[in-house]
Amino acid sequence: MTPNADKIRHLRSQIPVFACKPGCHDCCGPVLASTEEMARLPRKSRQAREAALTDLRCPHLGENGCTVYHERPLVCRLFGTTPRLACPNGCKPAAPIDPAVAQEIFLFFKETRHVLV
Ligand code: SF4
Ligand code: SF4
Repeated sequence: MTPNADKIRHLRSQIPVFACKPGCHDCCGPVLASTEEMARLPRKSRQAREAALTDLRCPHLGENGCTVYHERPLVCRLFGTTPRLACPNGCKPAAPIDPAVAQEIFLFFKETRHVLV
């Protein structure tokens, strides 16, 4: 396992989960992910990725929501759990993410190469 894989697993485990507004996918626009996380996602054709980008949506968003839910990138997990990435529909976990963990994740975003999903 690579150092980043360990780090991602550790960070993922500290992000609280919460119930979204049923049927909502408002935050599934174009997102960035580390190359480590990208390697775990199914490959999309260039055409599919361009079509998604034109519609300002993630290429892994299907009719019934996220098609890669168990491997969704950190940013998708973090969204809604911190005031810096608040859900526009007011959904949030019972207790927000530990600010130190959120800071660690933002640092990971800054220091690790990320690409468009
Ligand atoms: S976090 Fe908010 S915007 Fe994103 S899917 Fe859930 S309810 Fe919708
Ligand atoms: S990976 Fe899934 S949760 Fe993340 S933006 Fe794409 S569809 Fe939404």
